[in-house]
Amino acid sequence: MKGPDKWAANFPIADGPRQSPIDINPGLASYDGALKPLSLKYDPTTCLDILNNGHSFQVTFLDDTDSSVLTGGPISGVYRLKQFHFHWGASDDRGSEHTVAGNKYPAELHLVHWNTKYADFGEAAGKPDGLAVVGVFLQIGNDNASLQKVLDAFGAIKNKGKQTTFKGFDPSSLLPACLDYWTYDGSLTTPPLLESVTWIVCKDPISVSSTQMGKFRSLLFSAEGEPECCMVDNYRPPQPLKGRQVRAFFK
Ligand SMILES: [Zn+2]
Repeated sequence: MKGPDKWAANFPIADGPRQSPIDINPGLASYDGALKPLSLKYDPTTCLDILNNGHSFQVTFLDDTDSSVLTGGPISGVYRLKQFHFHWGASDDRGSEHTVAGNKYPAELHLVHWNTKYADFGEAAGKPDGLAVVGVFLQIGNDNASLQKVLDAFGAIKNKGKQTTFKGFDPSSLLPACLDYWTYDGSLTTPPLLESVTWIVCKDPISVSSTQMGKFRSLLFSAEGEPECCMVDNYRPPQPLKGRQVRAFFK
C-alpha cells in the first residue's frame, strides 16, 4: 500500500470536507454543556480473535447483539463494538494520528463502533452517522499490564494475514480513568477514508513502557515468505480542519 500522500489519487474523498485525523487545539475547542458522559459497556465474552491485517493488528468482537456497546457522549442511539486497533511510530517521538496542540504521542488506540440503526458495520460505514471511534493516546510511562495481554498474542500474528483466537479480553481495561473527551465529525483514517466517523478523543492518555512500544514494532507489514518489513509509522498525519468545530465535554 502506498503512503497517505498518495491516497487522494485512488480515493478522491482523501481531500474531502471532514477528513481525519486532525490536530486538536484545546484552546480553540468549545465547551458544550449538552454533551453527555461516555458510557462504554463491554462484555469480555464477545472478544473473538486477533489479526495482522497488513497495516495494523486488530482485535475483533462478536457484534450480533447489543453486548458490547457505546452510548452517550455526542451520539444518539446504540453503537456496537466491532474491533479495536492501534497506530504507532518507528520511535517514541511519533505514532499517534491525532495530535494535541501539535504534540504527537507514541501510539493511539482506536475502538471502532457502528450505529445499530443500520443493518451491519458495512452499511453503517457509508453513513454520515454510521461509526463512532473512541481514540485513546498512549504515553510513555509504566508498563501497562492490560496492554501486555494483547502484546503477548503477537507471536502468532507476526506476518500479514495471520490470525489467532483471543478470548475473554475486556477492552475497558485499556481506557483511562477519566473519560473527558473532545469530539468532532471526521472519517476513517485508512482507505476508503469514508466520512462516517463521529470521533471521540479522550483527553487523558494511558501508559505504555518503551519496552512495550518495542513489541509493537516487532510486527511485520509483510506476509510470510516476503522480505521482512517492520510494521511502524502506520499513522495518517493530521488533515485540514476545513471549518469544523471541535467540542469539549469538559471545561
Ligand atoms: Zn485507526
